[in-house]
Amino acid sequence: MTARGAGRGATADAGRHRSETGDDYRSASTRILILGGGFGGVAAALELDRRLAGRPGTSVLVVDRDNDLLFTPLLWTVADGRASPNAVVVPIRAFQRDRAFHVLHASVEAIDLDAREVRTSAGNRPYDHLVIALGSTTAVPDLPGLRERARPFHTPADALELRNVLIDAVESAHQTDDDAERRAWLTFVVGGGGDTGVELAATIHAYLADALLAEYPWLADAPIRVVVVGRADRVVPMSTRRTSAAVQSALEAEGVEVLTGAAIEEVTERAVRTSKGEIPARTLFWAAGITSPPPVRSLPAEHAKNGSLLVDDRLRLPGHPEVFAIGDSAWAFDAATGEPVPPTAQAAEHAGRYVGEAIAAILVGQEPPPFRFRTKGRLALLGSGRGVAEIGGLTLRGRPAWLLWHGYYLFRIPSWRNRLRLLADWLLSGATGRETGQLRLAPGSAGADTAGGGTETAPPTGADGSR
Ligand SMILES: Cc1cc2nc3c(=O)[nH]c(=O)nc-3n(C[C@H](O)[C@H](O)[C@H](O)COP(=O)(O)OP(=O)(O)OC[C@H]3O[C@@H](n4cnc5c(N)ncnc54)[C@H](O)[C@@H]3O)c2cc1C
Repeated sequence: MTARGAGRGATADAGRHRSETGDDYRSASTRILILGGGFGGVAAALELDRRLAGRPGTSVLVVDRDNDLLFTPLLWTVADGRASPNAVVVPIRAFQRDRAFHVLHASVEAIDLDAREVRTSAGNRPYDHLVIALGSTTAVPDLPGLRERARPFHTPADALELRNVLIDAVESAHQTDDDAERRAWLTFVVGGGGDTGVELAATIHAYLADALLAEYPWLADAPIRVVVVGRADRVVPMSTRRTSAAVQSALEAEGVEVLTGAAIEEVTERAVRTSKGEIPARTLFWAAGITSPPPVRSLPAEHAKNGSLLVDDRLRLPGHPEVFAIGDSAWAFDAATGEPVPPTAQAAEHAGRYVGEAIAAILVGQEPPPFRFRTKGRLALLGSGRGVAEIGGLTLRGRPAWLLWHGYYLFRIPSWRNRLRLLADWLLSGATGRETGQLRLAPGSAGADTAGGGTETAPPTGADGSR
């Protein structure tokens, strides 16, 4: 997957653009509609372009409400103050250069399977073949206090907000004279012991320890707690036991507490209550599960528990051979092993390429082969200089895994401009320190008093004599 010409001048690009138009799509005899321009949708569009570009009467349209592909694996380096948000998003139109598929910037509102039509905020679009690749959002269950207080982590805005929240919490800890109150402000709970939860907990700890607390030397000895709470009996339960153990020991080396086999039951302003006891904490982040977006959840089809669509061994909706679902929006299995396909970027890209090939085969009267997925491995960034990589039967830890994580994702982000920007950001933050300025995103929030009431900036003398 590569974006072409990212960074070239508009004049040079204009002559090379051979995108179809909305009219081309409407008048085509074979219309292929892709909903979602993320990992799965873009991979499907590129594969279709490779196989079908120039085929008379065939047109491909990608619909997305955003104009970019968010490269989620690299969001951690925005949250930990080492990269700017722009470095981890690639405009979808950069993939469109030199390619025939058309892009519609609009929201998908509903899918009518019988009429073979999709309602979008820019009007209805009919289709002959449909690819549903609308991704997922964080699922927050309806537990007392959870929806009001839990903070999700899914977007660049969430990554910036994470920094804002940590800064507010440390400011509040700095302003209080009450020891218990200070401890609660410096305790951060992460709900979810899966891949996202463990990386989130490690990122929070690394940002506090390596960036933020350097600005508050009088809090240097304050007891920071970052606790990751998971329901399963081990962290990253989808990995091998060896990898789970390696992840747990990397988290503990970073300074993160791991609480497994525990369910979060209630959240109040001052505490997180779990089945294994109460944690006095002011801040809770939530990364325990995903759910499908409304147009997917409301489709009259068979759904998995998280709202994704159950598909057959060729990633098609049962009873609708013209409709494919891929990525986080689908609940799929490897056709040979029967293993579930994980909700990862790697799997979504793989499924996107498969669906491109499958539709091209169907158009020439062939039956596509069943879908197979074998993971290439897993990588986790677990704090400063720490990581875990599972590749084949091998588990790497520590700095080698940390370096592999950075090298691999730098290579994988599909744009040279992003690559160079990330490299520059990382080197600069290594040399001059991480970003510790607050960036408020909501209009009018710049002067909001969210840090506990005080406005002073000079450090007070705490009850324990710390400054
Ligand atoms: C913080 C974080 C870190 C992650 N790290 C990793 C990792 O290290 N490795 C890995 O393999 N996976 C990782 N993942 C998982 C990975 O991001 C997803 O599995 C992957 O994005 C799924 O691809 P997709 O194509 O299904 O959806 P997406 O890539 O999310 O694309 C869905 C697209 O649909 C669009 N969309 C949604 N609803 C609508 C609508 N109603 N109208 C119009 N457009 C809509 C969205 O704008 C988006 O562009 C991570 C996820 C998160 C949140």
